[in-house]
Amino acid sequence: GGRYAPSMRSVILAASRSSRVERLVETAPFTRDVVRRFVAGTTTDDALRATHELVGSGLTVTLDYLGEDTVTPEQATAVREEYLTLLTVLAGADLTSGAEVSVKLSALGQKFDEKLAYDNVRAICAAAAAAGTTVTLDMEDHTTTDSTLDILARLRKDFPSTGAVLQAYLRRTEADCRELATAGSRVRLCKGAYKEPESVAYQSARDVDKSYVRCLNILLSGAGYPMLATHDPRLIAIGQDRARWFDRSPDEFEFQMLYGVRPDEQARLAGEGHTVRTYLPYGSDWYGYLMRRLAERPANLVFFARALISR
Ligand code: FAD
Repeated sequence: GGRYAPSMRSVILAASRSSRVERLVETAPFTRDVVRRFVAGTTTDDALRATHELVGSGLTVTLDYLGEDTVTPEQATAVREEYLTLLTVLAGADLTSGAEVSVKLSALGQKFDEKLAYDNVRAICAAAAAAGTTVTLDMEDHTTTDSTLDILARLRKDFPSTGAVLQAYLRRTEADCRELATAGSRVRLCKGAYKEPESVAYQSARDVDKSYVRCLNILLSGAGYPMLATHDPRLIAIGQDRARWFDRSPDEFEFQMLYGVRPDEQARLAGEGHTVRTYLPYGSDWYGYLMRRLAERPANLVFFARALISR
């Protein structure tokens, strides 16, 4: 972003890939409070409790079992099994009309065995369909985009409501939006959270924002179901305006925000009649997720530092 030195974001995103820093952060006593702000808890029950609360307050939810860059088939299977358990529990609690799941293919084996990742995510899509809800495939760094969109296309043959995520910071994304703005297609548009080279991604906040607006226009004027994932007040206002322009009713698009980020704004938009979905992460593998949140916003870092000092 352009609100702080780009080097700050780079340093934190570099730390997000360092196992030494990971050990430091995970064992620091103050970390708990910071994690709690962005993560619902570690267990399926924690996730269920938070979902109940959010759905009860008029929001919808997409649940993410934290995990990424899995390196063994056993780990990948464990992630799949947790999603199957979660979907059973959500259905049992009658929550599947308000809650779906988000899945990272790298947690299911994408980096070392694409076929395994496909089989795993397919099992999750089947369970979601049986439970009466949907799956959205999170998008990770640009080396995985083609593989993820390929898997999406294959899944959509049997599970047409499987959602995709497109990242406005990638130069290719306008074209991907055109490709996916078709009937029945669910597309989450976000700015993008990874450190990407200039060759594939816009680097300035201004260029990313401009790309976001071009993409939301394509999605809102198309035939699919756009999911505008941003906390940016300017982009939210533009989204509202264009949705009106293209005659979209509240069940024909939605806003999405992260758990713990601008909760008042989430409530405000829902109060105005918009569909608002909170992205709700849970699980113990929160390190990469938390570091990306810290990289996004200096205020989160201040929060982190304050928790450290107050010990
Ligand atoms: P930013 O540029 O971070 O912020 C813009 C403005 O928003 C700020 O200037 C401020 O005015 C306001 N704002 C932001 N945070 C706060 C705050 N805490 N309090 C008050 N105001 C605030 N990225 C991926 O790469 N892949 C994914 O699959 C993915 N899925 C996502 C799903 C959801 C539902 C959301 C919301 C984000 C997802 N992201 C994903 C992350 C996304 O790419 C961005 O990194 C993240 O959302 C920050 O960008 P932003 O649009 O909120 O704008």
